[in-house]
Amino acid sequence: MKTILRFNNVSKHYDNGVHALKNISFNVAEGEFISIIGPSGSGKSTLLRSINKLIDISEGSIYLDNVNVSAQKGKNLRQLRRKVGMVFQNYNLVYTLSVFQNVLHGCLGTISGFRGIFGLYREADKIQALELLKELGMEQFCYNKASDLSGGQKQRVGIARAVMQNPKLLLCDEPIASLDPSSAKTIMDLLKNMTHKRRIACIVNLHQLDVALKYSTRIIGLSKGEIVFDGPPQQLSDTVIERIYNTSRENLMMGENNIDDVENNKDTADCA
Ligand code: ADP
Repeated sequence: MKTILRFNNVSKHYDNGVHALKNISFNVAEGEFISIIGPSGSGKSTLLRSINKLIDISEGSIYLDNVNVSAQKGKNLRQLRRKVGMVFQNYNLVYTLSVFQNVLHGCLGTISGFRGIFGLYREADKIQALELLKELGMEQFCYNKASDLSGGQKQRVGIARAVMQNPKLLLCDEPIASLDPSSAKTIMDLLKNMTHKRRIACIVNLHQLDVALKYSTRIIGLSKGEIVFDGPPQQLSDTVIERIYNTSRENLMMGENNIDDVENNKDTADCA
């Protein structure tokens, strides 16, 4: 399988002295669905944001589709970033615009600035945007303002916009942290199905251990900026979980709404 991403001995020191990533190395192949887990402050967000150079790393190298990310700037960096779709916890939509226009923003990087400013999208892009909205069960909201949607619906638009980019890699930073369990299940199912179908590699930062166990083909566990586990969910033992979170599996599941408790019926998905 083709390797999309390589981390070679990556470290990150912030200016305030925090050593957020310590000698991180791993590869990601096409089609993998990877969850990054770890307690707050373990470095998940720093790791994810260094992939498309939203954060500059201090040491080591990151190769995205065989291109050294750190060495890119200007036009080359913009071109490289087109290969990476992003899905955010707080959706990052333009709320004054329609759902359709928000999805079309995914292809802004591929049209001229002039066309972008005047919303002169290609016919093929409009068709792709509509098809994506249909696939996400959102076509009836096409002309609604993004501000009028529920959290789960906003996130579906966020996914459509990211997939519209035709990315090789999708980065999702806590995509379900603001959602109720029913919407969270819808979003995780959609993320998994849509990336699987297109062979897009997906890296998801999650703080819900049960969700990571259920959906991932591979889990990377971070503790204080170091990788303490990298393997399939079946191999994530209670001992390793305690090492990552400094607490037991039972404590982590306790009081959390289990995504498996959500009945997967169409009504639920429609109002997500
Ligand atoms: P997580 O996503 O797992 O919560 P982060 O990557 O956000 O972890 O943070 C890792 C460490 O880096 C934490 O100690 C955090 O306080 C620190 N950190 C994150 N961003 C910055 C920043 N911009 N400046 C200084 N320290 C930061």
